[in-house]
Amino acid sequence: MALIVQKYGGSSVADAESIKRVAKRIVDTRRAGHDVVVAVSAMGDTTDELLDLAHDVAPISNPRELDMLLSSGERISMALVAMAIHSMGFEARSFTGSQAGMITTADHGSARIVDVTPVRLREALDEGAIVIVAGFQGFNRDTRDITTLGRGGSDTTAVALAAALQADVCEIYSDVDGIYTADPRVVPRARRLDVVTSEEMLELAANGAKVLYIRAVEYARRHGVMINARSTFSSGQGTFVLGPGMTVPAAIAAVAEESAMEEPIVAGVATDLGQAKVTVIGVPDVPGKAAEIFSVVAKSGANVDMIVQNVSAAATGRTDISFTLPKSDAATALRALAGEQASIGFESLVHDDQIGKLSVVGAGMRTHSGVSATLFEALSTSGVNIEMISTSEIRISVVVRGDDLAEAARVVHSAFGLDSEIEAIVHAGTGR
Ligand code: ADP
Ligand code: ASP
Ligand code: MG
Repeated sequence: MALIVQKYGGSSVADAESIKRVAKRIVDTRRAGHDVVVAVSAMGDTTDELLDLAHDVAPISNPRELDMLLSSGERISMALVAMAIHSMGFEARSFTGSQAGMITTADHGSARIVDVTPVRLREALDEGAIVIVAGFQGFNRDTRDITTLGRGGSDTTAVALAAALQADVCEIYSDVDGIYTADPRVVPRARRLDVVTSEEMLELAANGAKVLYIRAVEYARRHGVMINARSTFSSGQGTFVLGPGMTVPAAIAAVAEESAMEEPIVAGVATDLGQAKVTVIGVPDVPGKAAEIFSVVAKSGANVDMIVQNVSAAATGRTDISFTLPKSDAATALRALAGEQASIGFESLVHDDQIGKLSVVGAGMRTHSGVSATLFEALSTSGVNIEMISTSEIRISVVVRGDDLAEAARVVHSAFGLDSEIEAIVHAGTGR
């Protein structure tokens, strides 16, 4: 008998039928003799709809009230899942994040879990109940307010529960059969991976693969939780995300050994349409200017990703500096920079939100050369222009036109030999 934590995403609990399907899956796990703790997301696109509603009422929402609003989405689904389980003759109890002991920092909208005190969950498990927890939310002890963990944060709830309860595995269910070599909505020939290292998954998630939330992968890596990403809509075994020192479960060891022998250099391709580019034009090319620019940007709270500085024009002694940041941070960063234009001494600012970022990720890059050559060649033959480049030890990213991103991803996926014979299936969801 094991303790299994399962997380069901929005598309898995989108309507009454889906909720019943999820309840059946949970009950089947219980019937197999396991203790089950479940984290649920809000139904379908509920969170987006609540955000739209908040925006219609007030263009800039109060962060505390926004968290009160958004956390209600998960409350609806947790109660409905518990009811569906009851009607199948099993005992289930739902808990909000604060009832479940999800203690977080006070940052509304992006709180981090600092402690988990699952006393009530343990009691319920000891009494034989199936436990259902509202994902994405927590509680701050100082402010005594409800917080949310950031978009996609139900994944983190599940991993944190798995760590606190020392679960055997954390199963994350969504509308795809596991982690693929690319987003199957963008690259139909993407291939499902049996295993992926947590190191590679972190890079994929950080660069746009929203199949797992980056903070959930980080948390799992830090606390030694094994994640199994799989689909609510099929019975496949999905993908195991292996942290340091974790061994592949016996059930898939043979398959994984085979694929390990192939040693693919590239694990996958990630795409991100959520970034914008800011160019600071005519920056005096003297020491200290980059420091001034990026301290202003940092103070505005923006999370800068790539940076490129042009060679300065000899005639003017001025240069251009471009950087990328999340689209949602751009307006604040631009306002902050404009406020310091005179003191920094640059000429103007350009904002471009029509960019796309393509990243190629693979631990094999440490020992193999030629990955960038293959990437650039593939982009060049398909006529895609590269605007910026950045690399890490196991990743190469390029910025291209947003309109070119999907085509670029398909071509690059092919060039690295990742294409599967068959088209991947996305079972549900709107991909919103
Ligand atoms: P949930 O609502 O269940 O949390 P998400 O929508 O957050 O599910 O994540 C699942 C989606 O992630 C898929 O529908 C797919 O479009 C997208 N995705 C992006 N990159 C990948 C990838 N590498 N492998 C699988 N899915 C991916
Ligand atoms: N419902 C939240 C969101 O849409 C959290 C989650 O689904 O993980 O972001
Ligand atoms: Mg998600």
